[in-house]
Amino acid sequence: MTHTYNFEFKPYCRKFRQPLQTYHGIWETREGIIIRLIDEIGKIYLGEIAPIPWFGSETMSQALDFCQALPSQISSETIFSVPDCLPACQFGFESAIDRDRTTKFANLAQSILLPTGEAALGTLHKTISPKTTNCDTFKWKIGVSEFSTEVRVFDRLIRTLPDTAKLRLDANGGLSWETANRWLEMCDRLPQIEFLEQPLGVDRFSEMLALSQQYRTPIALDESVSTLDRIRDCHTRGWRGIFVIKAAIAGSPSQLRAFCKSHAVDSVFSSVFETQIGRKAALNLASELQVKPRAVGFGISDWFADKDEIGIEW
Ligand SMILES: [Mg+2]
Repeated sequence: MTHTYNFEFKPYCRKFRQPLQTYHGIWETREGIIIRLIDEIGKIYLGEIAPIPWFGSETMSQALDFCQALPSQISSETIFSVPDCLPACQFGFESAIDRDRTTKFANLAQSILLPTGEAALGTLHKTISPKTTNCDTFKWKIGVSEFSTEVRVFDRLIRTLPDTAKLRLDANGGLSWETANRWLEMCDRLPQIEFLEQPLGVDRFSEMLALSQQYRTPIALDESVSTLDRIRDCHTRGWRGIFVIKAAIAGSPSQLRAFCKSHAVDSVFSSVFETQIGRKAALNLASELQVKPRAVGFGISDWFADKDEIGIEW
């Protein structure tokens, strides 16, 4: 059934407490757009467009142009026909009015991102206590400094981790073929390693496929599968490992849902530093679509100074 909505949008800009050091450079402010739709009976729906262009989505200005070009009244047909070149907009509009939403995500376990390098040890010591009984999941970035230096810290991390804890290693595509193999040889001997994420660059799919068949340690793709198009493409080319899904930039939630369900995709949902509006929608999909009990990557509230108050008034 077609619905008609009054449409409004407001851009926001949030400063990170500390500029975020990523593989792709320094990130200081998170910009996005909150959209508001009001249906025929006055019900309000909020959605969020949170692009990350260097990860494969449209830019903020492309998203703004798209919103500005829309009339103040739009139909559900418009919402479901946002073009594929605007995946963050597809997510924002469609998730706002998603009627298949559940709200059972409260008990999803969170993966804890450890600081890069040796600082990880301090955080790990503070986080785990002798009484910790539930399975904690941690993530640590590798491929940042010398291999030998990282292995030394890694060794201490492993000795600190309880056997019940899980550790994810995320290389952000920064390993060579040789170091990827050396990491995987080590990981195969350790019970705590949950997976190695994006060992090689996006252009080296076949090598990652080979690694995923050669080692016991699972490999997760992240940068390689940033949008639904890329998820489909990697699946077609034979990827049966883990897919890290950043729902807010992946594209249409209904198409994502259909694809993940029909192929029983082993997914891990993860944040793109969206506000709680986008986060709730992404966690809804996570609770519905993650086929294995894996922790989600949404532990990010400490990264902003504004405590999720983006101060938008309509
Ligand atoms: Mg990653």
